[in-house]
Amino acid sequence: MVSRIIPVDPFDLVVFGGTGDLARRKILPALFRRFCAGQMERGTRIIGAARTEMDDVAYRAFIAEALIEFNEGKGGCEPGKIKEFQKILSYVTLDARGELGWSELSEKMHPGRVRAFYFSVGPSLFGDLALRLHQYGMADSDTRIVVEKPFGRDLETARALNKSLADHFDESQIYRIDHYLGKETVQNLMAIRFGNMLFEPLWNSQYVDHIQITVAETVGVGGRGDYYDRSGAMRDMVQNHLMQLLCLIAMEPPSHFDPDAVRDEKLKVIRALGEVDPKDIVRGQYLADDEKPGYLEHVENPRSLTESFIALKLDVVNWRWSGTPFYLRTGKRLKSRTSEIAVVFKETPHNIFDDDNDRHRNILTIRLQPNEGIDLDVTIKEPGPGGMRLVDVPLDMTFSEALGPEGEDIPDAYERLIMDVVRGNQTLFMRGDEVEAAWAWTDPLIAAWEKGATKPIPYDSGSSGPEEALALMHRDGRKWRDLRI
Ligand code: NAD
Repeated sequence: MVSRIIPVDPFDLVVFGGTGDLARRKILPALFRRFCAGQMERGTRIIGAARTEMDDVAYRAFIAEALIEFNEGKGGCEPGKIKEFQKILSYVTLDARGELGWSELSEKMHPGRVRAFYFSVGPSLFGDLALRLHQYGMADSDTRIVVEKPFGRDLETARALNKSLADHFDESQIYRIDHYLGKETVQNLMAIRFGNMLFEPLWNSQYVDHIQITVAETVGVGGRGDYYDRSGAMRDMVQNHLMQLLCLIAMEPPSHFDPDAVRDEKLKVIRALGEVDPKDIVRGQYLADDEKPGYLEHVENPRSLTESFIALKLDVVNWRWSGTPFYLRTGKRLKSRTSEIAVVFKETPHNIFDDDNDRHRNILTIRLQPNEGIDLDVTIKEPGPGGMRLVDVPLDMTFSEALGPEGEDIPDAYERLIMDVVRGNQTLFMRGDEVEAAWAWTDPLIAAWEKGATKPIPYDSGSSGPEEALALMHRDGRKWRDLRI
């Protein structure tokens, strides 16, 4: 099944921070793939803007290198396409904090067409960029701005960021990006829940035993040690990505699939989160192995109390979910790179079969990576003679197999999200009040462990995290799903 390409009207996209790591690795390659797919009409322009001094020719060459490095073989782009793509690229040397480059940029803008400004810079520059866009007459109703994480480090800073944007832009113009929401599977989660009759009647505490959300990484903090040590897994992953996944799993059906209806329902989930008992939180730091340094060496801070792993149990206190716990875990230098949501249904109430097995349960697994797809574990009879022995097998819906050859037709999250910005669809972007509500829930938890100067528990690199995280579920008679290699 080949995905349908619906071209978008010509637009101008300015990438502030257009020479940065995110622009090179993700944003420009994503735009290139949409270009190759034929989604951009003639006349579309992409303008890099950053402090680095460069002209158009140098920028085109710089981006061509990035495309070769980060786009090889993906998205059906033929080598010759880079030259064509280069023609829609230009560059402005610009200082977010000064006047350099702003007049030049505003002169480049075409009136009467969609213009999007991607803030691919640190959040400390968001306010400056918003202000200058306004001062230089580029903040009109055709303008959209896209902001990257981290959106604040607590409620206070998030509020200040929201205000600095709201001074010049309406909420309907602000696209706070969380690339997890752009994944095919995450959207499919909504299709599965709200497009089928099968699951929704069972989607509550009467039938669901518990829900697990795992985002495991094999990498350490790498070159981001300084930033990460001021952040930690709770701020860097739970407050945004895991929280967003939790919202989509737990929310009520919106009346329509439109941005505010969906985001209203997500907000209600965050507001329904219960207090978390400190004993239901496990924080860890990875240790060195034979080849790589441990967390403390990585961040060059032997006294660091920041967590590179966190597991927690939480409750969504409402009619639907009362009694069904949610277990979240995320960490670095773990056994495998796995992101998944598992909806673990209750056991059958009674076993009519005289097999030796325990009672069986269905598990719906939404895999975000690797190998995006959805599995439903169902219980069937083990094939062959020898009586009625039961076995659990997955009904597998791997999107790359079901929907296209080797996943080539599945746009990656950035491709989809940037095109949504151009189309003006905010459904998959976080609204300001959602972000603030998530911080309002996160802040007291962080404050409690910071006040107690609680030390994270060391865990082996390549493991599933601290033993205590396993115990968090064992004590409830449950267990984490294996981090499959
Ligand atoms: P980076 O340091 O590699 O790039 C920063 C860019 O900002 C450069 O182009 C630089 O020239 C530009 N810049 C800095 N000061 C400027 C100024 N005063 N005026 C104009 N331009 C200026 O950073 P990055 O890794 O590309 O990250 C950008 C943002 O995206 C950060 O907020 C980061 O947290 C976020 N982010 C990055 C990643 C990633 O994978 N790199 C992932 C998610 C979020």
